[in-house]
Amino acid sequence: MTSQSGMTDFANPTWMLDLRRVADREHLLLASYAMHSRDTAGRVHPEPEHDYRGPFARDRDRVLHSSAFRRLSGKMQVFTGEMGEYHRTRLTHTFEVASVARTIARVLRLNEDLTETLALLHDIGHPPYGHCGEDVLAEAMRDHGGFSHNGFALAIVTQLEQRYASFPGLNLSFEVLAGQDVRAHKAEAAIGRAPLLEVQVVDLADSIAYDAHDVDDALQMGVLEHDELQRLSLIRRASAQVMERFGHLPPSRRRQALVHALVDLQVGDLVATATERLRNCDGRTADDICSDGVRLGHSETIAAERAELEAYLFEAVYRHPRLMTVRQSASDRLEELFQGLVKNPERLPLRFRTRIAEVGVHRSVSDYLAGMTDRFCDTQHRHFTTHSGGPLTDW
Ligand code: MG
Repeated sequence: MTSQSGMTDFANPTWMLDLRRVADREHLLLASYAMHSRDTAGRVHPEPEHDYRGPFARDRDRVLHSSAFRRLSGKMQVFTGEMGEYHRTRLTHTFEVASVARTIARVLRLNEDLTETLALLHDIGHPPYGHCGEDVLAEAMRDHGGFSHNGFALAIVTQLEQRYASFPGLNLSFEVLAGQDVRAHKAEAAIGRAPLLEVQVVDLADSIAYDAHDVDDALQMGVLEHDELQRLSLIRRASAQVMERFGHLPPSRRRQALVHALVDLQVGDLVATATERLRNCDGRTADDICSDGVRLGHSETIAAERAELEAYLFEAVYRHPRLMTVRQSASDRLEELFQGLVKNPERLPLRFRTRIAEVGVHRSVSDYLAGMTDRFCDTQHRHFTTHSGGPLTDW
């Protein structure tokens, strides 16, 4: 439904809308302050519009079909593959974040395509070996521009992915890149102009998902005990919900019910708080909302209880001796490979040897290592230390 000027005519009644058109569908379903596809700032390399996919749906497909996305299946989240078969990998965590984020976006009438794209992208820049991999690269790159997985995600989608003949990277929409850039500069983003609501939702969905799922994985693996968790307010709140709904459950059923309740009550709290915050915003645009610095978040009570849970998980799970041991040897391998390749750049795969001229040897080594899966890094480390010559393999 467009006027002669080509602009969507908001005065027209909704029965005039053509729901095969993305702009009209979004006009009908999304809030005025959602990021509407028709308002996108476009792509660095201009491309013709797709016949039936909006720009953010296209972006989602580009991320989903990228090789960096597939490699998420081989990257650890918190627990490594040697520690069992139950726990999340980065890929399954990513899908869980996308699912939580889409639910929240739908109920708040935000752009689900953009939300899903940002969710699928959010962990794509994680190096092998989880957070310890990031620590090693951040330390090694300290005097060479630093390293963060959020910054590396941008390098992947703008430079390193090779899918199109006429440009490097995925040529994603400006709003997707800006959303990922906000993640890379979180401190700056916390003041002044707010990120798009879709960006904020993904960030919040990420932490809801990882808190709940780390509790699930850690309980299943015996790293945490049920009784010990009851000292935390958020767990007591979730347990009370489980008790109200199901009564006393056998231990084999308690964990799943607790995790459902944890996700459910956090999403419910966020949706209620956000709905209240956006109550008088109908008619305002996404740009207005960003300029006004509107920020979504949990209620004060739940925010405090989440902070307590996260502090506890940090000590009890992330610093658990079983994890620290695995982490130390993984860190040593990555560190040895980094220093070895900086000294012997001729052993980099051709693409990364060529890249040295553009970004320097440290950054090229860091990019090569950060893109690896856990197992690939193990293999390349073995190859590097047991064979004296020849380049390593590109991913
Ligand atoms: Mg995440």
